[in-house]
Amino acid sequence: MSAAEAGIVVVGASLAGLRGAEALRRHGYAGRLTLVGDEPHRPYDRPPLSKHVLSGELAPDATVLPERAALDAQWRLGHAAVALDRDAKAIRLADGSVLAYERLLVATGAQARPWPAASGGGLDGIFTLRGREDAARLRTALAEGPARVLIVGAGLIGCEAASCCRDLGLPVTLVDPNPTPLARSLGTWVGGVIADCLRDAGVTFHAGAQVLRFAGDAAGRVARAHLADGRAVEADLVIVALGATRATDWLSGAGLMADAGGVTCDGTCRVLGADGTPCPDIYAAGDVARWPNPLYGGRLMSVEHWGNAVAQAAHAARNMLAPSEDQQAYHHLPAFWSSQFGINIKAVGLSAGADAVAIVQGSRASRRFLAVYGRAGRSIAAVSFDQARWLPAYAEAVAAGQAFPPIRDASDQGGFLAMAPGFPPPRAAPTPIEAHHG
Ligand SMILES: Cc1cc2nc3c(=O)[nH]c(=O)nc-3n(C[C@H](O)[C@H](O)[C@H](O)COP(=O)(O)OP(=O)(O)OC[C@H]3O[C@@H](n4cnc5c(N)ncnc54)[C@H](O)[C@@H]3O)c2cc1C
Repeated sequence: MSAAEAGIVVVGASLAGLRGAEALRRHGYAGRLTLVGDEPHRPYDRPPLSKHVLSGELAPDATVLPERAALDAQWRLGHAAVALDRDAKAIRLADGSVLAYERLLVATGAQARPWPAASGGGLDGIFTLRGREDAARLRTALAEGPARVLIVGAGLIGCEAASCCRDLGLPVTLVDPNPTPLARSLGTWVGGVIADCLRDAGVTFHAGAQVLRFAGDAAGRVARAHLADGRAVEADLVIVALGATRATDWLSGAGLMADAGGVTCDGTCRVLGADGTPCPDIYAAGDVARWPNPLYGGRLMSVEHWGNAVAQAAHAARNMLAPSEDQQAYHHLPAFWSSQFGINIKAVGLSAGADAVAIVQGSRASRRFLAVYGRAGRSIAAVSFDQARWLPAYAEAVAAGQAFPPIRDASDQGGFLAMAPGFPPPRAAPTPIEAHHG
């Protein structure tokens, strides 16, 4: 088969892959379309996995994503792509077969960061949460009624899991090196509200603590975690929620700018070769993509949120079909939601680097509020706790970089008290920006 007959191949059959394929058809692409996925399933939604699936309200297989358009696609499910040969315009799959492409969309997302085997990661009863099988296994183990659940990492997924475990009546300990939960995504001032929720829900929260290693019993099942401060936490089920690394291993050797932080693209979502030249026939979208976002002065950014996967895949698909002189830059205002402890959290913008935060609606004490983050006198992000109705107006202010704090209706707003948001110091050099859902 010639490359032209091979048509478009999408590697990664999940949210970005599916929505990208649909957008190709919507934009009139009528050629051959192939979706390659290493999971055996049709695309499904991940957000419910750490919420309704863990709590038992939704079966893991009830998360299938609706297919919005007749795709008329070839599905190669249960087959990982293991190598890319750009000269031959071909992808090698794990079963040894070779798939030619004319144009390629990379949508391989990310994978949960595992606990190192040398520190007890191979013991039974230790779970990560990324895919449907992970959620099904974890749900079964939780339903068996472990004596104590330990969750390592108080990011969004760790907190959502803690909330579900408490709903199931399970004793939970949560350990995080930062002073509050969600410290990296929302800062400690807002994160303190979730710390209060943890306390009220009966979660034992060890702030500022670090797990060094896990120890098991004679049967090889996890029994306790040893912390850096010398304490030990007993637990017979552990959820490791330490974020994700981008699924780019299969691209090593392809001469692209790709590493565990993502595959680098130009502003139009075209993947860059190792020499920095855009590949006209390879695009990327979703969690795996890192691109210079014009909304942030062209700083390289990767965003692990649902809304970005959908929007970037549609944008990349549009550019894949457009002539080279009509490639449009991808502008994106990051946004995510989370639900935990009965609170619906929604956020827009990037709060990291904020030097102030102010409540502009509601109150922190009531746990119903809208807070805006500022940096150098500009509004850079907003978060709502059960106040989502007002968020779109503040999203506009954030996208436009309006003055901080933004005044929407001076008649019913008093002065704002700006507080220090309390972000932990960056772990490493601050470029590129990463927005996580881990
Ligand atoms: C538990 C959980 C809860 C979340 N909750 C929220 C939320 O509340 N709000 C929010 O905004 N975001 C949330 N997210 C993030 C959101 O789900 C992701 O941003 C989204 O799934 C990204 O879609 P994607 O298609 O880019 O990547 P993925 O969903 O990771 O899909 C990539 C696909 O490619 C496959 N793949 C990887 N390597 C290969 C290969 N070599 N060959 C073939 N296939 C491959 C993977 O197995 C996977 O099926 C959550 C994520 C998780 C894990």
